[in-house]
Amino acid sequence: MSRENSDRGRARPRVPRKGGPRRKKRRVCNFCAERRTFIVDYKHVRTIREHLDERGRIRKARQTGTCRKHQRKLANAIKRARQMALVPYATD
Ligand SMILES: [Zn+2]
Repeated sequence: MSRENSDRGRARPRVPRKGGPRRKKRRVCNFCAERRTFIVDYKHVRTIREHLDERGRIRKARQTGTCRKHQRKLANAIKRARQMALVPYATD
């Protein structure tokens, strides 16, 4: 038995991430992933609330994994929902 081929098929050693544990990154946009054909609108308060932080600000696409297209649609829906008083305006 040769020593050279002995590590064939062995799993790669897991290298721990630098910088500590990270939040699970969502690669795919929620809306794309669910293949929802409808465009998010201001009446979907539940969906909109998921994209607001505790202060009522729109969460960044980076945080939620939303794609640019849906983030824009969502932002418009949120702004409209605020006008309709369905969700609060940002407070500080
Ligand atoms: Zn999307």
